[in-house]
Amino acid sequence: MARRRGSVWVAAVRTPVGACSAVLLAVVVLLAVLAPLFWGDAAAAIDTDAIGQGPSGAHWFGTDSLGRDLFYRTLVATRLSIGLAVLATAIGVGAGVVLGTLPSVLPRRAGRLVTAVVDIAVAFPGLLLALFFAVIFGVGTQGAVLAIAFAMAPAFARLVQTLSASVAGRDFIAAARVSGVGRIRLLARHVLPNIGEPLVVNATIGAGSALLAFAGLSFLGIGVQAPDYDWGRLLREGLDGIYVNPVAALAPCGAVVLAGLAFNLVGETVAGVVGVRTRASRRAAGPLPAPKPAPAGAVPDDAVLVVENLQVAFPGPGGWTVPVRGVSFSVRAGEAIGVVGESGSGKSLTALAVSRLIEAPGVVTADRLEFAGTPLAAASDRELGTSLAMVFQDPMTSFNPARRVGGQLAEVSEQHHGLSRRAAFARAVDRLAAVRVPAAARRARQYPHEFSGGMRQRAMIGMGLMGQPKLVIADEPTTALDVTVQRQVLRLLARTREAEGAAILLISHDIAVVSQTCERMLVMYAGRVVEDLPTGSPPQHPYTRALLATTVDLDTDRDEPLAVIPGRPPEPDQVPAGCAFAARCPLATDRCRDEDPVLEPAADEHRVACWHPQVSVLSGQSREEGAA
Ligand code: SF4
Repeated sequence: MARRRGSVWVAAVRTPVGACSAVLLAVVVLLAVLAPLFWGDAAAAIDTDAIGQGPSGAHWFGTDSLGRDLFYRTLVATRLSIGLAVLATAIGVGAGVVLGTLPSVLPRRAGRLVTAVVDIAVAFPGLLLALFFAVIFGVGTQGAVLAIAFAMAPAFARLVQTLSASVAGRDFIAAARVSGVGRIRLLARHVLPNIGEPLVVNATIGAGSALLAFAGLSFLGIGVQAPDYDWGRLLREGLDGIYVNPVAALAPCGAVVLAGLAFNLVGETVAGVVGVRTRASRRAAGPLPAPKPAPAGAVPDDAVLVVENLQVAFPGPGGWTVPVRGVSFSVRAGEAIGVVGESGSGKSLTALAVSRLIEAPGVVTADRLEFAGTPLAAASDRELGTSLAMVFQDPMTSFNPARRVGGQLAEVSEQHHGLSRRAAFARAVDRLAAVRVPAAARRARQYPHEFSGGMRQRAMIGMGLMGQPKLVIADEPTTALDVTVQRQVLRLLARTREAEGAAILLISHDIAVVSQTCERMLVMYAGRVVEDLPTGSPPQHPYTRALLATTVDLDTDRDEPLAVIPGRPPEPDQVPAGCAFAARCPLATDRCRDEDPVLEPAADEHRVACWHPQVSVLSGQSREEGAA
């Protein structure tokens, strides 16, 4: 892992920006360390015979009013200039982190006060703040360091607040809160480590700004004081004789620019490394693994969706993780197909891949992936937007909370059908009415949070109906809803199918829901389809049967313990060589553990991937036994 990170840095340094930043930084650091040792005496030597001279062979940048060599003084000033800029940046970032995190640990009123102070401070230009603090802390090096540090702090405090807010809503933060982790520990252990990288990038770039600010204060005479000198002070002294020896002013000026450039380029390089880590991990993961061919079966003429050998892979430090491993199926026009399986079986990723919603660095490959007769990769957004509808599990996160529901629905018709705003809104109201949202005209003017969960889900289906969908993909559309509303949503999907002639691909972990709604069912396990069967047919795969056995209904004997499938599905990067279900299967044999079964026809419109499919549900007879 450390080696891979190292190789990412090496690759970054090989880019033009990375190489420039590395060279400039090396020069600056070497000068800061070595220049005072080698040329400290030469820079301080007073020569009354060479006062105020211009550039010459003996003095490349000329001399100052005491005859001191300006070339050596510019080199020697590197240490103080860089050292003070880095010190001010460190204090500024530290103060910014404290200020930015205080509102999270203080009582609400005190936290708001801190936030308000930060907001006011951010509104002032940095240099103005630095001058203000310089007056407070006094003239001199120490005062200038504190002035620049405190001038930088509000911007970093705002950055920390923004970054913290971006991770505060994550599930692991909620889990830590629920488990009783205190605020300070939460910040230190869970929030700050997750915002460290962007902070470092900004601190590096901030050091360049601090360098400029320091030079500015010294130039104004409120920074470094004699006998010490930094580039700002040299610039000020050089400016006095600019008409006699312009190099005296230009040399420290150039040094400030080059050092500032070095900091900024280093910041860019660090930001680049942070940003390209995913690309690097993709390169490091090596070539994509070839999916095991999954026979597609006969593709009907009226297929609206054809998926052959679909694979979804994600690069990781240890190679590719393949959560969808060769999935093949087709959906006929107007057909309702359910995809069932436990969490992590790959069903939602399959739906996302079919909807072109897998984001980089994820990679989707397939021998054939066609929607309405067109390769999905070649379909335009407009085509997909009008003929493929997606219903997500949580409609609250699918709608923009800051926009009215009707406006969001209308946007589809404005974008894809070229309707005017008024006509699109009228269609939105019509579609909301079609999905049984009561008082649709009034509701269309409301925000998502004013809708109940079931109504939001209906509105989401209504959004899909703004076009003429050939396929509605519903990914766990009823999971977040209570049983009564679940039924309403499922009925609505069925009505949509009848009224619009749309095919439905219903993703669910609930096999009972799929049985009620769909005529065909794909059972997924560990990233593959293990059984494809009509919903009325007795299942033959031990996993499908185990799933059915775990469903609870009113006839379930409450005196008996609830049926469960022992064990857990394998992690996507730890799928065994043979049948992935073997470790949990009561029928597993040595062959199961060694060879991965292929999805093969088991009966009419029924395919199963199992070495010992159970032909009869009642007898538990295997196919081989039945044949005998
Ligand atoms: S192949 Fe073997 S282990 Fe896998 S489901 Fe069938 S019987 Fe069980």
